[in-house]
Amino acid sequence: MNNSTKTKAIVIGLDGADWRLLRPLIHSGKLPTLNRLIQEGCHGPLRSTIRPESSAAWSSFATGVWPGEHGVYSFLRHEEDSYNFKLANSSTIGAPRFWKTLGDAGYKVGLVNIPFTYPPQQVNGFMVGGMLTPGVDVTFTHPPDLQGRILSRFPNYRQDAADDLDERDALIESADAFTAQQMELALFLMREEEWDLFTIVFTALDRLQHYFWRDMDRHHPAHDSEDALHYGRAIETHLAQLDAAIGLLLADSPENTLVLVMSDHGFNGCANRFFVNRWLEENGYLVTRKQSKRQASVVEKISNLKSVPLLRRVKRALLPADWGPASLRISRLAQSIDWSRTRAYFAPDGGIRINLKGREPEGIVEPGQPLESIKAELKRELLSIESDWENQPPLGQVYLSEELYRGRYAKNAADLILEPQRECLQSAGNFILDGSTDSSKGIFGSAEPYSGNHALDGILIATGPGVNGSSEIDGATIVDLAPTLLASFDVPIPDRMEGEVLIDLFSPGYLAGSRSESSGDEEGPQGEGDEFDEQEENIVEARLRNLGYLD
Ligand SMILES: [Zn+2]
Repeated sequence: MNNSTKTKAIVIGLDGADWRLLRPLIHSGKLPTLNRLIQEGCHGPLRSTIRPESSAAWSSFATGVWPGEHGVYSFLRHEEDSYNFKLANSSTIGAPRFWKTLGDAGYKVGLVNIPFTYPPQQVNGFMVGGMLTPGVDVTFTHPPDLQGRILSRFPNYRQDAADDLDERDALIESADAFTAQQMELALFLMREEEWDLFTIVFTALDRLQHYFWRDMDRHHPAHDSEDALHYGRAIETHLAQLDAAIGLLLADSPENTLVLVMSDHGFNGCANRFFVNRWLEENGYLVTRKQSKRQASVVEKISNLKSVPLLRRVKRALLPADWGPASLRISRLAQSIDWSRTRAYFAPDGGIRINLKGREPEGIVEPGQPLESIKAELKRELLSIESDWENQPPLGQVYLSEELYRGRYAKNAADLILEPQRECLQSAGNFILDGSTDSSKGIFGSAEPYSGNHALDGILIATGPGVNGSSEIDGATIVDLAPTLLASFDVPIPDRMEGEVLIDLFSPGYLAGSRSESSGDEEGPQGEGDEFDEQEENIVEARLRNLGYLD
């Protein structure tokens, strides 16, 4: 059994939790566990990655480095010397995880349902794959035999909330059921397995916020008062369920455990869509291929068929064999663009790529001065776009890649990173970005079926030994958690980590003084061997599409 005098830590992730939503619920007594943790401990915002996508953010949580150093920018990764994008997974993360460092120092780790942990890695302890694990027929645990014990204990084991999102009631039901199962699974593993660090990430809140924000927000342009009667409290009810789950997990944990409750990004209402490639086309940067337009729109129509099981089969039958779901998106983008006349395109990994000679297969922009001037020109023009909603700009920021990212994978990023307006107080002023080249679309449209989008600031709450009581912390970022956890175990921090130990969480002198250590070059570069096979890719892609990460 565990030695109760040894340091222990629990990290509870709430994907997409935001103070703007939590605070009023806490004040009105609806989230008693979080309220108690805030009274007892230290809390504040937790700044996410740019862009604040779960893939990049959870990878930064795991590694203590920003995307330029771990190489995950999106659920998709660009394939060098091509216009293709492949699904990313845990093998895309090109930096050591802090739990490896902790395990090497002799501590047992238990890592449950953390996004981007499939395929599972060997750890000193146990790992259960998270979001985007392709089903229960693959090995999703370490050690592999843990899987059998989980499946016999949970015969209807779910890997995620439902991915058929057309049925709103079913989505709520499955989100609640998934969270309930996660809570049971966490209790089961906390009791049965040995651990010093235990981490679980609850992801269903994020799904519900994407789809049910409009029902809760009376000022959302897509708010419908009839719908609101049924769905207006879906998010709040789920938060209350999470609050109770956190209470049960903590009641079951040893005294003197460091507890971190955190989210990978925040959330905000969002009503609009900005079709970036349409803007690039209308402004002469991108030319679509006339011939394939009809073809592309057929594919688009087929792929938009409601994803009920029968139609899903029909959809598969209608598509040419090599246009199965896994290659659908890639075909659509690469085939619909006339590369010989295109200078820039908005890529599925979230940024604009310049069609650069010598780098892209059919590049036409010369490197050097021509490249620099088109980047500067695009940045200037993109920032001056006004939308039809009160002339608000659809973009909050446009960064040149080199302004944001440093490190060994910085070169893999897009050339310009686009941050949509996310922080407007009114949902009507916020945008999601869409890469469609379909010319029947304008430059702006509705965000439907989504009504909420990620925001930059997530949450952080800490309690436990040495943590300051009823205090606030400012300026914490998602890369700070890895070094802070290592320091709390008094394990040297690899000097490759970019985050800082959050010493302000703790009373002065509590941490023995964080030590750093040269980290060498272990576990990089990005793994090549562990890509999804075709069937896995189809499953994961279908899920991502339903979650709105693929257009
Ligand atoms: Zn999300």
